[in-house]
Amino acid sequence: MSGQWLVKGARIAGGPDEPADILLDGGVVAAVGGGLSAPAGRIIEAAGLIALPGLVDLHTHLREPGREDAETVETGTRAAALGGYTAVHAMANTEPVADTAGVVEQVWRLGQQAGYVDVRPVGAVTVGLGGKNLAELGAMADSAAQVRVFSDDGFCVADPLLMRRALEYVKAFDGVIAQHAQEPRLTEGAQLNEGEVASRLGLAGWPAAAEEAIIARDCLLAAHTGSALHVCHVSTAGSVEIIRWAKSKGWQVTAEVTPHHLMLTDSLAEGYDPVFKVNPPLRTHADVDALRAALADGTIDCVATDHAPHPVEAKEAEWADAANGMTGLETALRVVQQAMVDTGLLDWAGVADRMSVRPARIGRVSGHGQPIALGGPASITLYDPAAGPEAVDPAIHASKSRNSPFAGMPLPGRVVATFLRGTATVIDGKVTR
Ligand SMILES: [Zn+2]
Repeated sequence: MSGQWLVKGARIAGGPDEPADILLDGGVVAAVGGGLSAPAGRIIEAAGLIALPGLVDLHTHLREPGREDAETVETGTRAAALGGYTAVHAMANTEPVADTAGVVEQVWRLGQQAGYVDVRPVGAVTVGLGGKNLAELGAMADSAAQVRVFSDDGFCVADPLLMRRALEYVKAFDGVIAQHAQEPRLTEGAQLNEGEVASRLGLAGWPAAAEEAIIARDCLLAAHTGSALHVCHVSTAGSVEIIRWAKSKGWQVTAEVTPHHLMLTDSLAEGYDPVFKVNPPLRTHADVDALRAALADGTIDCVATDHAPHPVEAKEAEWADAANGMTGLETALRVVQQAMVDTGLLDWAGVADRMSVRPARIGRVSGHGQPIALGGPASITLYDPAAGPEAVDPAIHASKSRNSPFAGMPLPGRVVATFLRGTATVIDGKVTR
């Protein structure tokens, strides 16, 4: 589905107020303006649609190699394209762990073969995510996958000396350490945000301080080493305050928030349905408000899905035994519309910035996250904000897993089309192959 495409009358996020035509040809934006024609090209009538630069996810679990029962690179990247993404970062907690050049190159090649989005493997910080010895960061950076983001996500790099060494090491190749901030001793056996709801339900509390203590420590280490720290899935109001402080100092600290933490609270655990069990846990209304405000003012740089597919048996268990995690690629933009755009907190230019421009910059992804303009990459997403609202139905998702916390919830909007370097991966809300 490559060749010429003419998008007629879309509103370009961050562009002029009047709708414009966008001609995609040869992998680039070949023309932008009014009244364009393309005799040889296919035409998409885009009146009412928003054109965004292709979305970039800093935090995706594609599960391959090792857990192909939950997701594969093929199914996960198909889900990503349907969600409007053109690049995703694949987290390292696979089996085997992506802690060598061999494994990251394998994941990178699988992404190329699937062809839906650019897959950027994340390398593990420590061998086997064990938290004891630094992995071969340099070898992964030098590999064909050109890894720049390193994370033990799923686990915290709890040892402060190891964290310091990792931050120092990645400076040589402009890398970034993405930390899953969870003080392990403070969260032993933790099940749900520590507070009124967890007490009432008799679930072991997961204190906000366990996240905030690590973020504060790591901001200080980022400053001390002069290196780049990225904070994964910020979930508390206190974390926002610490990141705001670190940024005010000019330190290289960036942060992400998930769609589910922008929308959902711990009160959803009342029914003990493990679809709402996630790490970090859902928090309070006050936290949700603080996260939305921080994303709006740029303290939190971007939205990252933390798409975490699990097979049915891993989630249909007692709360305490169920796996942490939620799917998110196919609903992220719709959730952001409801939580941020329809509330007046962010305009579409802001959405382009927080879901494409900034995550591409943080992840060191070239060819993505650039404004839709003449000569720019033809990796774009067409979105209909007036569609719906329609209840989310995980049964029709391309992801191999069904653990969406938004199942049955009405959400606005619809991803109509996605283009990767001028090739349509999604047309009329369906993958093209
Ligand atoms: Zn995590």
